[in-house]
Amino acid sequence: MNVATNDLSTTRPETREFLAAEHKNFINGQWQAAKSGKTLEVYDPATGQTVSHVPDSDAVDIDEAVKAARQAFEDRAWQNMKPAVRERLLHRLADLMETNVDILAELESIDNGKSAAVSGAVDMACAIDCMRYMAGVPSKLNGSTLKPSTPFMPDSELFAYTNHVPVGVVGAIVPWNFPTLLLCWKIAPALAAGCTVVLKPAEETPLTALYIAKLASEAGFPPGVLNVVTGYGHTAGAAISAHPGVDKVTFTGSTEVGRLIVQAATGNLKKVTLELGGKSPAIVMPDADLDIAIPGAASGIFFNHGQVCTAGSRLYVHKSQFDRVVEGVADVARNMKIGPGLDPTTEIGPLVSKIQQERVCSYIESGRESGAEIIAGGDTPDGNGYFVNPTVFVNTNPDMKIVREEIFGPVLVVQPFDDLDDVVAQANDSPFGLAASIWSKDVSTIHRLAPRLRAGTVWVNCHNVIDVALPFGGFKESGWGRENGIDAVKAFTETQSVVISL
Ligand code: NAD
Repeated sequence: MNVATNDLSTTRPETREFLAAEHKNFINGQWQAAKSGKTLEVYDPATGQTVSHVPDSDAVDIDEAVKAARQAFEDRAWQNMKPAVRERLLHRLADLMETNVDILAELESIDNGKSAAVSGAVDMACAIDCMRYMAGVPSKLNGSTLKPSTPFMPDSELFAYTNHVPVGVVGAIVPWNFPTLLLCWKIAPALAAGCTVVLKPAEETPLTALYIAKLASEAGFPPGVLNVVTGYGHTAGAAISAHPGVDKVTFTGSTEVGRLIVQAATGNLKKVTLELGGKSPAIVMPDADLDIAIPGAASGIFFNHGQVCTAGSRLYVHKSQFDRVVEGVADVARNMKIGPGLDPTTEIGPLVSKIQQERVCSYIESGRESGAEIIAGGDTPDGNGYFVNPTVFVNTNPDMKIVREEIFGPVLVVQPFDDLDDVVAQANDSPFGLAASIWSKDVSTIHRLAPRLRAGTVWVNCHNVIDVALPFGGFKESGWGRENGIDAVKAFTETQSVVISL
């Protein structure tokens, strides 16, 4: 089957104007080309065609951005800014994102391949929500007061309080699967805490980060408070994580790169938050309502073309329901409409890059070679885009690569289980621990099972439901720390104790 091509002429004039612009880094409130003069190409993954260019920055550009962020951090204007004024700045940025939401959604779609309609309704809606939620925090970021009972000072009267002091210059490194949303998860709490930021988007999806920089400038953030530098991970990204002037790195991406970031951070022992990979189990219990569980499990893996860190990529079904669920999910997979992101009827768009398409196809090949059976998909449609048909494997075993490793594409493995102990053992048999879902109507089963799952988020009768008020992060090799919620702002602060002898 040949997939339709993306028609850029259907986009807003402002979107096309932005694509055609000469893009530069945003450093110290100024637009600057990479010092080397190099650029990298931005592709439309639905067609493979170049749509724009951005700076191919390296350590020299990062150094300049870090110095600008440091100067802005030390500046009294930022340090002394009243919490309510910082709140208004963040709200103004949220307002501008809202005004320009269609342009952001189109840029994201052309850059990443995802549906523009879904990007507007999900990615951008959640990104704006995040900006507004974090905008509400600065005026509520209180410490506590306490009365110490220090044993070796029995006769002294002491009073103490704590302050949440911004950690300093933050390096934010984000992946390509939810470019705007994930950058907001980082810059919104960091700015709310009073930090300054050097943000590096993924090399595959730099456009919306540059657009957000433009909006932040319009919103009136002082120069140097938010800097955006585009470039590759091994150059620009590595320079952020190794830079002695960066106080904290907040990273979302692969577990492999997470390890490199931890190693690079040892130089100045910068603080590190990591949101990494996953291989999340979805568990269908014998009593589950299959009218909900089947489409729910399918959407748990195929949403965003499987490029979701929490994708329900391992489906465990009680053996009494196995055949029905497998057939139901495979049926959804076979009937999904594949197409470019600008077509509002598209259900599965292209993967982000040729490399990602090849990576996912090599996993499918490995599954086939190791004896697993494909009952839907397993191939790519014709055309120039980086598409992969939604794929469902059965007859797998726990040692297969397709069961153990994160594929990050529309590929599902389905396994049967006997009882609760069996499914707990299978679900937890993974180096990852990001998320899990339980599909059941039995309240006792749900409450018994949820705490036994080694996962940062457990969904019940739903999957991939996120909210900015809910802490998000992983157990085991899925990461360090949590994003979202009020604590996400505290994670960009140092707690300082002040002790006064009265
Ligand atoms: P990636 O790790 O290859 O890249 C992520 C970012 O890190 C990019 O900006 C990249 O340029 C940068 N980078 C690459 N090498 C670097 C280095 N040596 N030093 C510093 N930075 C470097 O990941 P990806 O392929 O872009 O994204 C997919 C991965 O992200 C998946 O593993 C997925 O599970 C994970 N992810 C996790 C979450 C979460 O919240 N846990 C969310 C989304 C994606």
